[in-house]
Amino acid sequence: MTSGDHGLDGVERRGLMFVLSSPSGAGKTTLSRLLIDRMPGLKMSVSATTRPMRPGEVDGRDYHFIDKARFDEMSKRNELLESATVFDNRYGTPRAPVEAALSAGQDVLFDIDWQGTQQLREKARDDVVSVFILPPSAADLEKRLHSRAQDSDDVIRGRMDRASHEMSHWAEYDYIVINHDIDEAFAEVQSILKAERLKRERRTGLTTFVRKLQHQLEK
Ligand code: 5GP
Repeated sequence: MTSGDHGLDGVERRGLMFVLSSPSGAGKTTLSRLLIDRMPGLKMSVSATTRPMRPGEVDGRDYHFIDKARFDEMSKRNELLESATVFDNRYGTPRAPVEAALSAGQDVLFDIDWQGTQQLREKARDDVVSVFILPPSAADLEKRLHSRAQDSDDVIRGRMDRASHEMSHWAEYDYIVINHDIDEAFAEVQSILKAERLKRERRTGLTTFVRKLQHQLEK
């Protein structure tokens, strides 16, 4: 899963797969939106899901909302890069848009759970950068789930129960951000992406760049 690409400073670089995971309600969706709005060269991977659309969600922007038969068909045709069952619904990452973005020189942002992150890591270890977002406290998580007001009390209870299980995977991630304050958490996630973009191993054009510099110096 690599691509030749022109880095933001003109040095060729491989695209990276930037993964954000967290229990629902920890602020991951807000952080993803801020990243897409403010970081050039980053494209959101829009997942397919069989779960019902929530108020305010838009098909094709938040998710591709599809039925189970269509999901199974995509899975059988190997059109999903990874997939998982979460809260009894199926979720998966359509492969083609990710590959197209990476080969067009863009980085791709994924809002997926720990199961999907494990699958991406198995497929493209060197190109995956993973960040786990933690809430500052259980009370804060519950407050955020209620203030979203998109789900029924039963669904919220279910999400609280699942949160502890999801959080148990935190140690599989490269970076951990605690979301005390959304602006601070955003600054931290942004710094991670900026630093990862500068990693030597990813910057395939550096040898040529430095050779050219040396050539100029020797003249
Ligand atoms: P929600 O239904 O609240 O939008 O998402 C529930 C959970 O499913 C979240 O933890 C989210 O990150 C995860 N998720 C969303 N899309 C995908 C996907 O394509 N693959 C996997 N593995 N998880 C996903």
